[in-house]
Amino acid sequence: MSTPDSAPARAERLGDGTVAVRAGLPEPAKNEPTLPGPVFAAHFHLPGEVEGPYTYGRETNPTWTLLERAIGELEAPGQEGVDTVVFASGMAAVSAVLLSQARAGDTVVLPDDGYQALPLVREQLEAYGVHVRTAPTGGDAQLAVLDGARLLWLETPSNPGLDVCDIRRLVDAAHAGGTLVAVDNTLATPLGQRPLELGADFSVASGTKGLTGHGDLLLGYVVCRNAELAAGIRRWRKVVGAIPGPMEAWLAHRSLSTIQLRCERQWTNALAVAEALSGRADVSGLRYPGLASDPSHKTAAGQMRGFGSVVSFTLADRAHAERFMAATRLVEDATSFGGVRSTAERRGRWGGDAVPEGFIRFSAGAEDTEDLVADVLRALDVAGSTA
Ligand SMILES: *Cc1c(COP(=O)(O)O)cnc(C)c1O
Repeated sequence: MSTPDSAPARAERLGDGTVAVRAGLPEPAKNEPTLPGPVFAAHFHLPGEVEGPYTYGRETNPTWTLLERAIGELEAPGQEGVDTVVFASGMAAVSAVLLSQARAGDTVVLPDDGYQALPLVREQLEAYGVHVRTAPTGGDAQLAVLDGARLLWLETPSNPGLDVCDIRRLVDAAHAGGTLVAVDNTLATPLGQRPLELGADFSVASGTKGLTGHGDLLLGYVVCRNAELAAGIRRWRKVVGAIPGPMEAWLAHRSLSTIQLRCERQWTNALAVAEALSGRADVSGLRYPGLASDPSHKTAAGQMRGFGSVVSFTLADRAHAERFMAATRLVEDATSFGGVRSTAERRGRWGGDAVPEGFIRFSAGAEDTEDLVADVLRALDVAGSTA
């Protein structure tokens, strides 16, 4: 094959699947593999002066470099100056932004309905003298508490409630007041939503979920609007040492080549499950941003390119939800989401989210659509008939 154009130029005009299968790959070189294997090295040969890209394994690794390039191509195709930093987990990435950007006396605005570990980060921020304000994701409620803040944290769609806020509108208001904006893009994945294109300064995510999609590794990343912001995030990674192992980084890169295929099937399945659930009397509180009837649909449709694999709904009570979970055959009872095998859980069992006892967070996998919908409907019938 001939030498491809530079990655950004390529990404601008090609489809998501085409970009995904080549994202982050080095220029083709004779007798070299397409995707070089993981580089296992704590240190690199370093005679004389300390120079060059690879010196010590807590700071840099060639396997991360390729993965960071790949994620950047998917999150912000064609955008100049964007710089990505990978971490050992989503929480390592989340904490890197919040704890490195906020100083004692600063104010940070968080959603009050975000990921269940965010309240722990809040406690840590407050212990360091950072003021924290919160507001719900729905209705862009964070607009009302932005004044004078150093950083606005958005999570849209929110986990597990699937509320959506208007990223562009919140970014414009935040930037007008000198506030930086970070968006947790875990649920959408870079294929479903590109926060940097909507003006955000950071797009942060857990790569553990739909990004890698096989449920076999933990990973996190921060995509930064420019090198200056990225330098602070890299410095934090060096200080804290929350680095991904080369094997995880390589597996993640390999998984990215199928992200478009996985997302396409999983989003189709999520919508099909949501549509099937919407006709049922035993289901309440159904949420999926891709459903035209969903309260988030209009905002979601204006900024998302796909609506994700997660559907949430509520059954009568805890026992009913447990009977549903026990009756499914194709849906694993497990936490996490975004994987090729459908998973679901009664979210209230963790105690961390403000959800009803019968609340189910359902993640559509890559099964055949008819099989998955039939399994869900059959399990609901079983759960209802044995009450
Ligand atoms: C899972 C998740 C995280 C944390 O990711 P880990 O990889 O588990 O550390 C952060 N934000 C959201 C929205 C998540 O779903």
